[in-house]
Amino acid sequence: MPKHPMLILAALFLTVAIEAQESKKAMLVVHGGAGTITRSSMTPEMEKEYRTSLETALRTGYAILARGGTSLDAVEATVRVLEDNPLFNAGKGAVFTHEGRNELDASIMDGKTKKAGAVAAVSIIKNPISAARAVMDKSPHVMMAGRGAELFATKMGLEIVDPSYFWTERRWKALQKELQKESQAKPIGTVGAVAVDRDGNLAAATSTGGMTNKQFGRVGDTPIIGAGNFAENESCAVSGTGHGEYFIRWTVAYDIAALMKYRGMTVQAAADEVVNKKLKAAGGEGGVIAIDAKGNFAMPFNSDGMYRGYIGADGVARVSIYR
Ligand code: ASP
Repeated sequence: MPKHPMLILAALFLTVAIEAQESKKAMLVVHGGAGTITRSSMTPEMEKEYRTSLETALRTGYAILARGGTSLDAVEATVRVLEDNPLFNAGKGAVFTHEGRNELDASIMDGKTKKAGAVAAVSIIKNPISAARAVMDKSPHVMMAGRGAELFATKMGLEIVDPSYFWTERRWKALQKELQKESQAKPIGTVGAVAVDRDGNLAAATSTGGMTNKQFGRVGDTPIIGAGNFAENESCAVSGTGHGEYFIRWTVAYDIAALMKYRGMTVQAAADEVVNKKLKAAGGEGGVIAIDAKGNFAMPFNSDGMYRGYIGADGVARVSIYR
C-alpha cells in the first residue's frame, strides 16, 4: 500500500474507476418469441401487458447482475419469470401438441466452463429451466428427456405440478384453430435470456412449449446445445426462437459463435448473417438474441416481430416488439 496520501487517493480512485467500468459491462438481453407479431394483430392492452412482463423479467435478472451475481443465475431467474407468465410460450403458457398435451423443452449453458444442462418433452415440471440447471449442476449428463427427466427433477426437489397446470384457454383455442385448418405445426414463441456479468462471464437460457400442433415426442431446437442455445466466453451467448427444425439443421447458435471465432466477425454481423441470410434463404423463420463478453449484443429476426429487450448499466429496461 502506498504511504503518500496522494498515492493512497490515486489508488482509491483507480479501484473505484475499475469497479465502475466492470459493472458497466453487466448486460442482460431477453426475448419472448418471434413470429407473426404485427401491430394490427395486437390490442393496446395486450401490447402493454407484453411490455410490462418483459420489463419485469429484465429487471429481475439485472438485479442479480447489479449486486455482483453470476450471468448464469441472472438468465435462469429471468427465464423463470417468463415461464410463470401465461403470455409466453414456455412454462405456464406452453402451447399444445397435436394430442392436446403440453411438452416442454429447456436448456442452459455457462460460457465460462462450457457446462450445459437440458430437459426435453417434460410435462409436470413447473419451471423447466431450473430442471435444466439441475441437470447441469447435479448430474453427469447434459440432456434428460421425458419421464426420466421428471423423476430426476422430483428427486432434486423442484416444483412438480399436475399436467393441467399448463392448460390455458388461449393456447387450447390456438390448437383447435390449427386442427381445423389441418395445418402443420407452427412456431409460436419461446423465451430466452443471455447475459454477461461483471466478471465478463457469459450465460444463455432458453425455454419453450415448442410449436402448436406438434407431434407428441417432437423435440425442437431449444434444448439442443448449439442449435437453440449456446454460450462460451471466447465468442458469445445465444438464445434462439423460431422454427426449431431449421435451427437444428443450421446449428444456428453455434454457427454465430463460429463466425465470430473463425472469421473474426462482430456479434451483430455474425447474428445477422445467420438469421437474415442463411436462415432466411432456407425458409427458417425466427430470430436470436446474442451477446459477447464486452456486452455488445444483437437481436436480429426475420419474422414480422420478436418480443425483445435489454438492460444495462443505467438500469433502464428497453423493450421492442415490431420490426
Ligand atoms: N424454437 C421453438 C421450437 O421449435 C419454437 C419457437 O421458438 O417458436 O420448439
